[in-house]
Amino acid sequence: MNPLWPCAMTGAASCLSGIRGIGVIIHGSSGCFFYPATLLKTPLHCTKLIEEDIIFGAEKRLKKVVEELSSEYDLLAVIPACAPAVTGEDIREILSGYPVIVIDSPGFIGGCEEGYITALGSLPCCIDEERPGVNISGLDLIDPFCRGNLIEMERILGHANIPVAARFCLDSLSSICRPSPLTISTNPDLCGQPGREIGTALGLKNLESSLTGLATWCDDADIDPILDEIRVAEEAIDRACDKYLRRFEPPATAIFGGFSYAHFAAELLSDYLDAEVTSVGCRNTIQSSRFRVEEARDMSAVDRILERDKPELVIGSSFEERQVQNAAFVPLTYPFRGKVRLAAHPIAGVQGALSFMETVLNACMDLRRRDCRIDPHTSLQEFV
Ligand code: SF4
Repeated sequence: MNPLWPCAMTGAASCLSGIRGIGVIIHGSSGCFFYPATLLKTPLHCTKLIEEDIIFGAEKRLKKVVEELSSEYDLLAVIPACAPAVTGEDIREILSGYPVIVIDSPGFIGGCEEGYITALGSLPCCIDEERPGVNISGLDLIDPFCRGNLIEMERILGHANIPVAARFCLDSLSSICRPSPLTISTNPDLCGQPGREIGTALGLKNLESSLTGLATWCDDADIDPILDEIRVAEEAIDRACDKYLRRFEPPATAIFGGFSYAHFAAELLSDYLDAEVTSVGCRNTIQSSRFRVEEARDMSAVDRILERDKPELVIGSSFEERQVQNAAFVPLTYPFRGKVRLAAHPIAGVQGALSFMETVLNACMDLRRRDCRIDPHTSLQEFV
C-alpha cells in the first residue's frame, strides 16, 4: 500500500465520477466511501457494508442500491472495495440483468492510476473514425490541475482550429463512448483510453511536437498561432530565469509527485533555471529518466530524501511542505492543504508551463527575502 497516495478504488471512482450519465456505487464500508467522497466532491453512492454483510453476504443490500439508482443514470458502475473483493462474492452474477458495469479495482491492487486505467478500460468505448478532432486525456478529478488543464487544452486546440472530441474523463457518457481516433494527453501517467496517443501537452517542447504531429492528421489545423505563443512563452521564461540567475545560484531541488508531473517539473527547472535536481521522489510507477528517480511512497522515504539532499527548493504536496522549514516550497501534487484554491490553474499547455515557472521563481525570491532578513549585511533592494 502507498500511504501518501489514493488507492485504486479511489482512482476508479475519480475516473468515473467525472462522466455525466454514470452513477458510481462504491460497494464497501462507509470508511471507504468517505475518502473519495470528500476528495472528489462529486455525487457518489455506497452500499455502506457492515460486519454482517461481509460475513453473510451483501447481495440484498447491493441489489437494493442498484434498483434505487437505476432510473437516475444511463449506466451504473459498481466498484467493490477491498472487503467484498476479498470475500469473493460474484458481483457480476448477482447483478446480471441490471444495466451495470463492475470495475475490478479494489484498493489493494495499487494506486489511483491503476484504478483509473482499470475503470477506463471497463467503459463501453468504441472509436468513431468519422468523429473529427482530438480527444484530451489525463483529466482526473483527484488532480488539482484537472480543470485548469481542460480549459487550457480547449483554448489551445481552439486556436489551432482543431475540434475537441472526447474529454477523458470529464465529459458526457455519450461523448466518452465514441472518441475520435487521436488523443493528446495532459498526464501520461493516466493512459488506457482507446485510440492513438499523439503526444503530451506537458512542457513546451512536448506541446510543440504533439501539435506538429496532430497537424499532419487534421486537414484544417493551423498550429502557427500556438507555435508563436510557445516561442513567446519560452523567451519570457528565459528572460525571467536569466534575471534570477544574475542574482542567485540555481536552487538545489527535490521534486515529489506522480512520475509525469514530477519529470515535467524537473525538465523545466533543469533546462531553464539550471537547477540541480537532486531527486525525483515518485509516488507511482517509475519510468526511465535522465534524473535520479526514487520511490517516495511513505513519509520515511520523503524524510530520507530531504535529510540527505537538503534542497533549497522543494516541489510536492502538503506532506513535503510540512517537513521543510528553510526551503522554498511549490505545490505540484495531491494533497494541497491549507490553501484557498478557487481558480482553475493548469500545469499542461503554454499557460501551465508559464504558471509553474512563475510560482517557482516567486517562491525562490520569497526564500531569498527571508534569508535577507536573517543576514543584516544583505540589502533587500538587491532582490527587487
Ligand atoms: S479499504 Fe481498500 S478500498 Fe477501502 S479505502 Fe482502504 S485501500 Fe481503498
